[in-house]
Amino acid sequence: MKNIAVYCGAAAGNKPIFKDSAIKLGQWIVDNNYGLTYGGGVYGLMGVIADSVLEQNGYVHGIITKQLNDRKLAHPNLSKLDIVETMDIRKREMLNNSIASIALPGGPGTLEEISEAFSWAKIGDNDNPCIFYNIDHYYDSLMEFFDNMVENGFLEPSGRKKVLFSDSLPEIKNFIDSYTPPELRHYK
Ligand code: AMP
Repeated sequence: MKNIAVYCGAAAGNKPIFKDSAIKLGQWIVDNNYGLTYGGGVYGLMGVIADSVLEQNGYVHGIITKQLNDRKLAHPNLSKLDIVETMDIRKREMLNNSIASIALPGGPGTLEEISEAFSWAKIGDNDNPCIFYNIDHYYDSLMEFFDNMVENGFLEPSGRKKVLFSDSLPEIKNFIDSYTPPELRHYK
């Protein structure tokens, strides 16, 4: 089965639309015959998307660190739960077990994980397309910052096209289906 790696807040945010979008993304994953790979947590949008997929008899693979699991933060009913030693192993395993990376709204953890995935794509270490599910314009300021990177010569225009900001699931599906990894970075 092809899994989608989803990064999202361990909090739920303070607008109903965030929770609604996690439910919708979970339904989209099942409707498109994907499984979900995620950080294994039970709280916030993490728990919401896992429950959304499970409620439709979908497949959910959680990958959590030993430290978070010992603190009883893991979802108790996943299809599969892997417990790993470090965040670095967890992030690598999430990429190895998925075909695309999608960020729902979230905090610093979410930002770090999807940014790392995209930076690894740029150096040839990750073949997953990277997508910001831009619900309620949550990621607009970050999208502008990526454009700013291009304007200031820190990201090639061709590289910028390899990360998608979108609130449209059909557009996201099309991006995944037509994606080819970026050319390797040139240094001069
Ligand atoms: P944040 O966006 O800062 O809420 O962090 C969420 C991301 O960090 C998730 O995608 C997880 O990989 C990781 N994370 C942070 N807190 C937890 C938690 N309580 N349980 C599981 N994963 C967590």
